[in-house]
Amino acid sequence: MDGKLNVEELFGRNVFTIEKMRERLTRAVFKEVMKVMKEGGELSKGSADVVAKAMKDWAVEMGATHYTHWFQPLTGITAEKHDAFVTHPDEEGRMLLEFSGKELIKGEPDASSFPSGGLRATFEARGYTAWDITSPAFIKEDATGKILCIPTAFCSYTGEALDKKTPLLRSEEALSEQALRIVRLFGNTAARRVTPSVGLEQEYFLVDREKYLKREDLIFAGRTLFGAPAPKGQELEDHYFGAIRERIGAYMKDLNIELWKLGVTAKTQHNEVAPAQHELAPIYEDGNVAVDHNQLVMETMKKVAGRHGLTCLLHEKPFAGMNGSGKHDNWSLVTDNGVNLLDPGQTPNDNMQFLLVLACMIKAVDEHADLLRQSASDVGNDHRLGANEAPPAIISIFLGDQLEDVVEQLVSTGNAKKSKKSGKLQTGVSTLPDLDKDATDRNRTSPFAFTGNKFEFRMVGSSDSVAGPNTVLNAIVAEAFCEAADRLEAAEDFEQELHDVIKEYLADHQRVIFNGDGYSEAWVQEAERRGLPNIRSMVEAVDALLESRSVKMFEKFRIFTRAELESRAEITYQTYSKSINIEALTMIDMAKKQILPAVMKYSGKLAETMLAVKEAGGDASVHASILSEVTGRLSEMKEALDRLQKDLAEASAVTDVREQAFYYKDKIFVDMTALRTPADALEMLVDKSMWPFPTYGDILFEV
Ligand code: ADP
Ligand code: MG
Repeated sequence: MDGKLNVEELFGRNVFTIEKMRERLTRAVFKEVMKVMKEGGELSKGSADVVAKAMKDWAVEMGATHYTHWFQPLTGITAEKHDAFVTHPDEEGRMLLEFSGKELIKGEPDASSFPSGGLRATFEARGYTAWDITSPAFIKEDATGKILCIPTAFCSYTGEALDKKTPLLRSEEALSEQALRIVRLFGNTAARRVTPSVGLEQEYFLVDREKYLKREDLIFAGRTLFGAPAPKGQELEDHYFGAIRERIGAYMKDLNIELWKLGVTAKTQHNEVAPAQHELAPIYEDGNVAVDHNQLVMETMKKVAGRHGLTCLLHEKPFAGMNGSGKHDNWSLVTDNGVNLLDPGQTPNDNMQFLLVLACMIKAVDEHADLLRQSASDVGNDHRLGANEAPPAIISIFLGDQLEDVVEQLVSTGNAKKSKKSGKLQTGVSTLPDLDKDATDRNRTSPFAFTGNKFEFRMVGSSDSVAGPNTVLNAIVAEAFCEAADRLEAAEDFEQELHDVIKEYLADHQRVIFNGDGYSEAWVQEAERRGLPNIRSMVEAVDALLESRSVKMFEKFRIFTRAELESRAEITYQTYSKSINIEALTMIDMAKKQILPAVMKYSGKLAETMLAVKEAGGDASVHASILSEVTGRLSEMKEALDRLQKDLAEASAVTDVREQAFYYKDKIFVDMTALRTPADALEMLVDKSMWPFPTYGDILFEV
């Protein structure tokens, strides 16, 4: 692939784009597809057949042999089962490749092995997948060949969501419906749909594959479970935005090409704070597609790494003491006639709409802070949230000085003034100051920051699907819009009521606004005084799903039923327990088969040398002191190992899923830390040539 890279030609090459549909479909069918894409509904059977044939012809021309319904079960990653386009040969043994509308629209994978949290008893294991026409089909190409992937939702036969896409789509519907009510109030009659725009910054680590393969913890857990710090960490701040080394550069170049072909607008790339850490950000796009594309980004990052002798780690905290990885979920709301509801705008009318939207968002985030926190939790993120480099586990909103001042004014101006003067609404602030974009973007410690014309939700973990966080965001904003619209539509005096609603929402929920340093201990205390929840772990966060306010909201907007929420809670607990169980078993394995033998070998050597030195009449006191330190740590380690094994053996006796998850958090996880401490100390004592696997220094600085 040398020579000139033609990005324009490359972009979307593997995507069945609208342009390709226009070329390949009849006018009538194309129009129908566009209508369903924009307004929802179903394709007629005849049209579905036409689309399927066109899609298949294109895919086969591209070299595809198989198709798959590509879906996102509750494992957090994507699933696919490939079917070849082949059919029965005719009497003369010829094969005609086929793909029908029925196969395009609906699939029936045997779904019994996907987590369902009790929603689907195994006797009715056949969930089904249904084409999501709003997300374009694409061809995935790798060693398997070329596979036509059809983005689909995954449900049980009784219609319960078994995946992450279904609730996301439902939440977008709800949000659009409520947001339309808001824009109508301000005279926008042209908009037909309001869609969240989502831009996702993805952080990742790259390590040498050979070294990776020498560490069971990286292989099984995706993070190091042992490891003493290297002499150098990130303290010199020389990696962030640093020059990109050739090997990494070659990887990034390849990654961009693969992503562009898939229609992902990979745009920004740079080195991140920790050594071996990097970031990629595509340009924002429709929420649902952005979520799908993020899955492709994560998958492609891993795949391309293999080609370069590298391994991509998406874990939130692969290395203790180093920055972890997150994902920034940039979120705004845009009408199909091009208005960003989070853009303050130029006219008083736009300003008022913006202030209402802002007030609704502040209310939504404050009222459902626990749900947002839950949506950003995963096993790996427990190491990040509240740790030093990541947003704290407390949800707060950063608005920037200017906007916070506006809020202050609105809250403190006494009675509402309803008179109109010189065409401007009297709201305490008649027009907003031009917001200085840079000023809004300076606070990097806030979990939820207003950045000029969007919010940036910075809590999400790097390996997590962003479907969950976006579903929650969409849902809580839809609810706030709905309440505001109910009042405003019924108001006799719109302007008075508008003023009241904004002022009330801001006054009631101002406590969630915080512009200071979110990483400081002072904030933790201040937040507690303000009554903001500080939910420290993934398992503690699960309760938010079943809070009555959450259930009520999700049911009202038909995003989740109570049963679906219960199933998700159950799966979350199980995921946590299983993951910690794997980590604990991995630690036990490494401790018993690698670290203990190495330390014993070293201490034997040391004892031998010590005796030899003594015999020769030398001073062996240094030997003796090191030996006693080593054996002291060794017995500390053995004790910790025994405790971990004993406690782990008792975990299965805890049968309640919630209790079991807490058992893993409060007991097993604590035991694991106790085992790591002496092992890491031993790493600093034992002859490096005898240490059984690559160290932090080897992995992080010699990529
Ligand atoms: P940083 O936050 O590090 O300054 P960038 O500007 O590189 O990051 O990336 C911000 C992300 O936000 C990009 O994916 C960008 O496309 C996205 N973005 C920009 N404007 C909007 C918007 N209105 N809505 C949603 N996402 C947006
Ligand atoms: Mg950002």
